[in-house]
Amino acid sequence: MTEPVQLHAMTTDDARNKELERLFRRFLEIVEPESGRQGLAETPQRMAKAWGEWTAGYAEDPADILKTFDDGAENVDEMVLVRDIPVYSHCEHHLAPIIGVAHVAYIPSGKIVGLSKLARLVNVYARRLQVQERLTNQIADALNDNLSPLGVGVILKCRHMCMESRGIRTPGALTVTSALRGCVKDEPDCRAEFLELCR
Ligand SMILES: [Zn+2]
Repeated sequence: MTEPVQLHAMTTDDARNKELERLFRRFLEIVEPESGRQGLAETPQRMAKAWGEWTAGYAEDPADILKTFDDGAENVDEMVLVRDIPVYSHCEHHLAPIIGVAHVAYIPSGKIVGLSKLARLVNVYARRLQVQERLTNQIADALNDNLSPLGVGVILKCRHMCMESRGIRTPGALTVTSALRGCVKDEPDCRAEFLELCR
């Protein structure tokens, strides 16, 4: 038995890409009867590059993205919500696409972040192998831990390619998950406001 290669720990992108290319070339040899045809010649390199992007979130730290600024923050104690943030992820069970939207809200308590940071935060966790429930919780917990807000609300509505195109086949089925923290979880008015804004 050889030791498993720790790909994620490889020091250079180059070494990592080479190993991925080798795997994807072998993959094509197994699934494609004419794996030598011209159209597939560059596919292993393309796949290695694409998977580099689809898993780039492992190298990113949410704390860096959620660096806060104080200017004016003391005046903001109402809900901040960004709706319909695109979600592109892959399920950890089949590596099949998960595609949908996220609604992300928080109620500041002295710390705010730029609105674009909420979309970037979603991306950090989406670009990892995921189950939708964990993805939803990770987004909520990162906001909660880094901003110490009064409350957090996250809703994800996603389609799962592995459910739609194989197995039980439920085309068009939308999986909805939510993660609520602080007053959005505990206070009925706050929760109602969040859900109303997400409708
Ligand atoms: Zn799956």
